[in-house]
Amino acid sequence: MSDGRKTAACLAVGSELLGERRLDSNSLTITRALARHGVVVEEKRVVGDSVGLMAAAIRELLGRHDLVVVTGGLGPTADDVTREAVALALDRELEPSAEVEGWIRDRYARLGRRMPEICTGMARVVPGSRPLHNDRGSAPGLMVEVGESLLAVFPGVPWEMEEMLERDLLPVVARWNPGVARISRTLLLGGVVESDTEEKIRHLYEQFGRENVTILAHYGVLRLVLSFEGESSAATRRVDTMEAAFREVLGDDVAGVDVDSLAEVVLEKLRGRQETLATAESCTGGLVSAHLTDVPGASDVFLGGVVSYSNEAKETMLGVAPELLLEHGAVSEEVARAMAEGARERLGADWGIGVTGVAGPSGGTEEKPVGLVHWAVAGPGGLWTKQRVFLGDRAIIREWSLNAALDLLRRRLTADPL
Ligand code: ATP
Repeated sequence: MSDGRKTAACLAVGSELLGERRLDSNSLTITRALARHGVVVEEKRVVGDSVGLMAAAIRELLGRHDLVVVTGGLGPTADDVTREAVALALDRELEPSAEVEGWIRDRYARLGRRMPEICTGMARVVPGSRPLHNDRGSAPGLMVEVGESLLAVFPGVPWEMEEMLERDLLPVVARWNPGVARISRTLLLGGVVESDTEEKIRHLYEQFGRENVTILAHYGVLRLVLSFEGESSAATRRVDTMEAAFREVLGDDVAGVDVDSLAEVVLEKLRGRQETLATAESCTGGLVSAHLTDVPGASDVFLGGVVSYSNEAKETMLGVAPELLLEHGAVSEEVARAMAEGARERLGADWGIGVTGVAGPSGGTEEKPVGLVHWAVAGPGGLWTKQRVFLGDRAIIREWSLNAALDLLRRRLTADPL
């Protein structure tokens, strides 16, 4: 509430989020969405399924912030006690709502199932609150004004939460700072090392403000988030200028803007050229294919992939010559080339990717240490290879490898526009 800006807090509910397996990711989505409207998340908390702890947290956070967003614990089971906690925090008694029960019954009817009796618990509402319909699940949410502040409570399932956030909360928040927006744009960089990029762009921090640039690095891909807050058309112009300045310095390192992955970029480029792709993977065990098929609509470009782990598989499925394997070993430039060519020929694709390496932790030698990876791209105009020794554990080496392979293809497609 300082400097006139609205502030928010996120409260993630659920004992599983305090354990060692699950992380609160809802608050990231909420923070990103609120930032678009100039609302800053100043606090985040995680509490277990305890009515007392939750109620205390809700009260405390409402005392400090304009907005408190709670997620989780709205379901029908005994450990879902968020509704009770909200009632306790506001000193109100839950009341059954025929309307809300109707929503839940309707959902079960549409699914052709009988509504279990415990679901009526979800139809109890906090007096004075606005119940929120859940189009993607059964647990309703709620919003309620408490003094000067607003409390929004959404289900924990991210897909259900996102819908209510966009539909019910953001229109309210947008009215708080009319015309003000934080405009963000994310440049996806491939085949770069964070420190090199940092060196290239450091001088731009001064020009545009360090606080408006965030670097997120992830084993072979780097995201540069450029953002600016202000009156929305002025902020958009400012981000346009930032993007142009960063692109000029970074050149071909920039794979795309506001895209999710290198796979998405590669597929889009190939689609534009009406060309197809096949993969041959050893140390990545299908990760390149998995990333490609993560992208909806990949099937018009990506024909398929071969996971050729053993030498025999490389010979029989890809036609890698036994002499190559004998002479150079499975982890070699020659075999990566042959794998890329084999994938291309055997699957009848325009382009083939081959990846072979030592993912570790064992299997390394002095000559071929753990982390050594060769990758190759075969295309209509030739064959290209690269190699590197990646540092890290097995998962990290595999992640680097798949991004490196996709990036080599991405750079070839950029260098040879049709
Ligand atoms: P429902 O009854 O529809 O499941 P709910 O409000 O009871 O809704 P929870 O039971 O708390 O939701 O969580 C359901 C699922 O959503 C769980 O798999 C949980 O791990 C996930 N989830 C809950 N909170 C979060 C969070 N903050 N970030 C990411 N995932 C979450």
